[in-house]
Amino acid sequence: MNPIKCSTAEAALKGLFLGPQAENREWVAEQISQLLKSWFEWRQNSFPKDGWAISRDDMQSAEYLSRRKNTEETLKYLTTRFEAEIPKFSPRYIGHMFSEMSLPALFGHILTLLHNPNNISGESSKVGVFIEDEAIQALSKMIGYPQGSGHFTSGGTIANFEAVYRARSRCYSWLSAGLASGITSAFSSSVMGWHQYDNSKVCREEALKFNPLEGNPFEVSQRIFKHTHNAFLGPVLLVPEHKHYSWVKAANVFGLGAESFWSVRLDNEGRMDVKDLANQILKAEQEDRPILMAVSVLGTTELGMIDPIHKVQEVLDSYRASKGWHIWHHIDAAYGGFFCSLLGQDITVSNALSTESLKALSAVATTTSLTIDPHKLGYVPYSSGAFLTSNPRDYFQNPFGAPYVDFKAQQAHTDKGPFTLEGSRSATGAVATWMTANCIGLSQEGYGKIIARTIQLKSEFEKSLKEEVRHLRVAPSTDTNLIGFCLAAPGETLSKSNARTLEAFKNFHENKDQVFFVSKTKINKKSYELYINDFVNSWEGQVDSDELVLIRLCIMNPFFKTKEMKVDYQKLFISTLKEMEILYARSN
Ligand SMILES: *Cc1c(COP(=O)(O)O)cnc(C)c1O
Repeated sequence: MNPIKCSTAEAALKGLFLGPQAENREWVAEQISQLLKSWFEWRQNSFPKDGWAISRDDMQSAEYLSRRKNTEETLKYLTTRFEAEIPKFSPRYIGHMFSEMSLPALFGHILTLLHNPNNISGESSKVGVFIEDEAIQALSKMIGYPQGSGHFTSGGTIANFEAVYRARSRCYSWLSAGLASGITSAFSSSVMGWHQYDNSKVCREEALKFNPLEGNPFEVSQRIFKHTHNAFLGPVLLVPEHKHYSWVKAANVFGLGAESFWSVRLDNEGRMDVKDLANQILKAEQEDRPILMAVSVLGTTELGMIDPIHKVQEVLDSYRASKGWHIWHHIDAAYGGFFCSLLGQDITVSNALSTESLKALSAVATTTSLTIDPHKLGYVPYSSGAFLTSNPRDYFQNPFGAPYVDFKAQQAHTDKGPFTLEGSRSATGAVATWMTANCIGLSQEGYGKIIARTIQLKSEFEKSLKEEVRHLRVAPSTDTNLIGFCLAAPGETLSKSNARTLEAFKNFHENKDQVFFVSKTKINKKSYELYINDFVNSWEGQVDSDELVLIRLCIMNPFFKTKEMKVDYQKLFISTLKEMEILYARSN
């Protein structure tokens, strides 16, 4: 007897995941065995007259059988080891930015593993490279790049590196052409735009002298100094304080130096302060420092916040209109790129986000480049990240060839090998994303619905947490589906609150019954000063620490609140927390 049922729309989405109790196992087993069957037949039918390499006699030999036995046993042993793995499929897992994999993505991934294509070029991947192009087109359509170019990476970190790599190449091409054509400002040369670059009549040899990538960068810097009469201190990266740490790595890897990392302040709600960005651009001009790029974050790693991308682009557009400066605008949407699937006519889906967030998402279409991780909010298995540019010109820069690879550029497909930082690349991430786009859909009908639901779940969860747990303070993070909270009694200092929150985290972490999996984050005062002041003020506490400790929940699991299940996870979480608070109060 189970009178509680979900809607038919919800039921339809339930076919897209295996289910926490492997409910869809029979169908999944059928699909996977079908994949294996086709794979066997493909081999058998490829060169049927070649004969068998492994004979029936071979298969009877003792050595053969003992080897096989050994593999079986090792595999069994390995399987038991993996039983200790994190049960990310469970709605009890609300820690980091991963959760269940979707079945379409998993099937695509498995099928690709069987064929093992290398998307470095069409010479080593005949089907995979085309699927990758189509998957890039699907992502481009979702984010609003009509002519998007790009490729799949191992993740968001490398996708961000791809952005810096190309922005640096473009910056230095423009810088060197500008200086060689007689312009005496490094800054204005470096933002001249492709149009002026194409029209600048300079001799290539002359330009190379001013390009740090083409010679000795220190010598080039001296040459620029002589030309501009200004010490050349290199380009800067404008990145908001709540950046992912991959940006710090990028500055290091690309030899820009820590000083070149110009942090943009955050406002009291934890989003990028656009006024500060505008000021830093002017500062770069005054100091004659080229701007490599300005970065906005769509879905911060800490709290899932969305920067005002529309306002950032407005600032850049106004400088472009009034001064002719073309500044690269990169969107780090490793986490939040899939929120773009909420855009559209159906307000029951788009209303999950605020008007400001929707404006920010709509403005992605007008930006230069974007990083997105299907292995985060796309429910795709690792590794699957992607890098996209709006203008193909910004993508296809700085090619490197290899004498032993036959790279091709054709109408239908251009090999990405010469343009990617990585060499060999699996096609799994691309194919899994292709399956997702075709079976679930990257619009309001598919992903939009699934993700809107996670945002609604988060809002309900947040409301109950606030109402039902004494001294629980939810950090303002209203944009998407992450929750950060701390425990603080009225008037309590930040350091005391931090200790209490850490205690609660430890309780979750060390709990043998694995009641819930949560994560924690530390938000530092240097980056989030206004935000922390406002938050701590809300309980009239005192800021006596350089950081704020938060328990962080990422509400991504599609089954977090499923009427048919025996457990109400929201209620269970709240009662677990309440018990902890009592424990903590007693022990102190
Ligand atoms: C996760 C994340 C990254 C890095 O992605 P990986 O796939 O872990 O390399 C970069 N930026 C943001 C905003 C992220 O959330």
